[in-house]
Amino acid sequence: MNPWPLVLRRTLLIMAAGGLLGGFLGHVLMGLLLASTGLLGWHLLHLYRLERWLNRRVAFRGGSVELPSPDSIWSEIFGHILTLKQRSRKRKRKLTRLLKQFKHASAAVPSAVVILSANHEVQWCNAAATDLLGLQASQDMGQPLTVLVRNPALRDYLNSRDPEHHQVEFPSPVNAETYVSITLSPYGKKQHLLMATDVSRLHRLEQTRQDFVANVSHELRTPLTVINGYLETLLDTCGIGVWQQPLVSMQQQATRMLTIIEDLLLLSRLESTPGVQQQAPVPLPDLLDSVVEDGKTLSADLNHQFELEVDRQLWLLGSHQELRSALSNLVFNAVRYSTPGTPIRIRWSRQPEGLVLEVIDRGEGIPAQHIPRLTERFYRVDRSRSRATATGSGLGLAIVKHVLQRHDGELRIRSVLGEGSTFACHFAAERGVPPAVQKHAYMA
Ligand code: ADP
Repeated sequence: MNPWPLVLRRTLLIMAAGGLLGGFLGHVLMGLLLASTGLLGWHLLHLYRLERWLNRRVAFRGGSVELPSPDSIWSEIFGHILTLKQRSRKRKRKLTRLLKQFKHASAAVPSAVVILSANHEVQWCNAAATDLLGLQASQDMGQPLTVLVRNPALRDYLNSRDPEHHQVEFPSPVNAETYVSITLSPYGKKQHLLMATDVSRLHRLEQTRQDFVANVSHELRTPLTVINGYLETLLDTCGIGVWQQPLVSMQQQATRMLTIIEDLLLLSRLESTPGVQQQAPVPLPDLLDSVVEDGKTLSADLNHQFELEVDRQLWLLGSHQELRSALSNLVFNAVRYSTPGTPIRIRWSRQPEGLVLEVIDRGEGIPAQHIPRLTERFYRVDRSRSRATATGSGLGLAIVKHVLQRHDGELRIRSVLGEGSTFACHFAAERGVPPAVQKHAYMA
């Protein structure tokens, strides 16, 4: 109900009564002054009570504050404030309960959860962050995470262009036996939510797998080399008549097994070291010339037409040996999987998005559903055909992907059925070596 008509009526009534009484005594103005002073005093008294109550000096209910008469404007005001206070008390209780639940939940999460500011300063962390990252909620707030957890992999990860789409693994600063995997998600206003999960078990399994593959490959290499050698000798000495075909076939398969083993060993070497160990300016144009020569030898009678569009001033910072393996695999695949006599184009240039090396063939192309899986080990589009040709190891593109990752690069495959395929290696522009440095590297 609207209280204002009543308030106005009462005020006018008091003022009129004051005026009348004053008029009766011969001082109308004095009467009006007395009435308005009385009204002012009454309002001041209630303001005083309200202030004391809001300041919590006296309790409203059951305390010494006197309630205004129920039909006055002040009782309305006190009533509204009381409702607001009760609502806010309820909200506070609910928030406290929620906060308690959140604290219990965050303490129960086995992964470390850290809230970071836009500049990667720690704003909040849970209990697991102490066990996994060594953060102390009481003293580390406001400090940059990279100062608290000194790890180059973490620093590079946080400074990378889009950390949200990747993750990084490194040994925990608390215990070197524990491996943590870090992911970052956008959170709040320009903040980040960092999650660190214990992946020690997975890491150990992966380590065991790598060791197993490396050891088996290593152990098989010597006996296979011996068998291959004897098969060659047998072919030279008694590889005629009925024995010729079986011996040729045996030697082909033994050579293929050796290729697989060499590639497996190369892959485990690439996996066992986190990044390129010895980086140097690599004269990529010369390297491409040499790989193309090998490609021509492989093509031989197939007569592929090699076309080079190479920026001869553009070198690349990286590992010569690893880049040679990757480029050879791409060029040899172009020879093996494209029609004889068709062109194979090799382009190396600086593009707006970075440095790009492309190997383009006019082969049969690859059906779209196979493209995302091509870099998996032993994945083949046409298994029967690959086995029949009996050449590749099935590891070529896996090697290319690893080499590129170690050069902070990426392999992008485009293919149109019936038209051909493009295998593009993308590198960051910063990996390009300026001519002045090239000259220095050449002299050295
Ligand atoms: P492989 O030793 O079988 O060539 P790779 O890892 O080098 O192993 O390649 C995996 C598969 O990708 C190949 O078996 C082939 O099916 C397909 N592939 C690779 N390069 C090409 C290409 N240039 N054109 C068509 N298919 C290709």
